[in-house]
Amino acid sequence: MSGLVFGSAPGSAPGSATGPATGPATGGAPRGATRPAGAGSGAATTAYVLRRAWVGGATRDDVLVEVADGRFTRVEPGGAVGEGRAAVVLDGLVVPGQANAHSHAFHRALRGRTQRGRGTFWTWREQMYAVAARLDPDSYHRLARAVLGEIVASGVTTLGEFHYLHHRPDGTPYPDHAMELALVEAARAVGLRLTLLDTCYLSSGFGAPVEGVQRRCSDGSAQAWAERRAALVERLAGVDDVVVGAAIHSVRAVPRADLPTVVAAAAGDPLHVHLSEQPAENAACLAAYGVTPTRLLADAGALGPRTTAVHATHLTDADVDLLGGSGTRVCPCPTTERDLGDGVGPARRLADAGAVLSLGSDSHAVVDPWEEMRALELDERLTSRRRGHWSADELLAAGTDHAGLGFPDAGRLEVGARADLVVLDTSSPRTAGTGDDEHTAVFAASAADVLAVMVDGRWVVGPAAPAPAQPLGAALAAAIQEVLP
Ligand SMILES: [Zn+2]
Repeated sequence: MSGLVFGSAPGSAPGSATGPATGPATGGAPRGATRPAGAGSGAATTAYVLRRAWVGGATRDDVLVEVADGRFTRVEPGGAVGEGRAAVVLDGLVVPGQANAHSHAFHRALRGRTQRGRGTFWTWREQMYAVAARLDPDSYHRLARAVLGEIVASGVTTLGEFHYLHHRPDGTPYPDHAMELALVEAARAVGLRLTLLDTCYLSSGFGAPVEGVQRRCSDGSAQAWAERRAALVERLAGVDDVVVGAAIHSVRAVPRADLPTVVAAAAGDPLHVHLSEQPAENAACLAAYGVTPTRLLADAGALGPRTTAVHATHLTDADVDLLGGSGTRVCPCPTTERDLGDGVGPARRLADAGAVLSLGSDSHAVVDPWEEMRALELDERLTSRRRGHWSADELLAAGTDHAGLGFPDAGRLEVGARADLVVLDTSSPRTAGTGDDEHTAVFAASAADVLAVMVDGRWVVGPAAPAPAQPLGAALAAAIQEVLP
């Protein structure tokens, strides 16, 4: 299948094929605007027949789906379209929208550049800071809009943006949350839901003052961070498409004494934290405090189901027990960890201990949620020399964990859930002959096989989406050129 077929109720005349999938929508609210809850989808019911769809943990044929006001109102395998009703027929394999739980949009500017030659995580970090120093609200918005366009076109419907570029390069504030709203508006322009993980970042390392471009990140104190974030929460109150979460950048960047302030401020909202990505971080934490980063976070009350520990690569057995026993979410970012030479974390052991897995593309060296899913299995094969750690269903569950981003009502094709759909091409050179089921999605498909994406009942990618003002590649090239040192 090379495109969507728009048909009608069984028994009536077939519809005509449309063109190939195109880039994301570029419409959306004007900058600074808010979108009230429930708006934008209209009250009319639209019916779809999904020829193949992953529903309730299995791939089913001819699933009748009805959507009203951005939610599924009917999901019925083999269901009949009502008398006199029309339904849109979707060929290919339909799966729920993916959640990308860990992103730094501006890192996309480094793809193909930081990979040249040798280096370490720490030399990569210097190159990343050089781009960070050049961004202002307008260039940040243009870059994020292009990058988020790439992300939504890969099949993602909620993005967790771990955002720490709050201020001007010298650390003085912008008026009216300019950098944060640049991201919000970028997400709305491409039709993506956003969880803005407003990050507390106070130190260049275990209490040392911020230096250089890090001044952009620091609010000066945890209390000042909490106050600025609270004002942002208020600024975005009542919208349906943005959640303002919180983040502890890392145990390097937030001193132990400040952790409880961040935890208290985040109460009830998603709280994310970079955790033990590098052995050097563990060693420095042990030297400073005498405990591992995981233990430090546990003692500060920072673990639990609303918390997502990003990476969690280098853990002790006790760390695994602390994360699993508290039901903390863990977000490996396999393609970035691969790119940076971080190592392979104990994802299976964490899940067995009780942690909930999600996935992120982090630095965007690769933007492909299908690759992240299979990487969880394939990287673990390399370290264990055994196969079959994860089922395709488990990997799809990790890929569709919107709950850790504050959208527990997304990621499933079921009545009442947010109407997100991803249509995968099952006849491409990558996917043809692979069974047209969940194994096609996890072990064969790539971002290039995404034909269409629906978010909250609206098509934002594909033939039924608004045409983009500029081809995605051209938008990315222009936005990146603008911010390179
Ligand atoms: Zn990160």
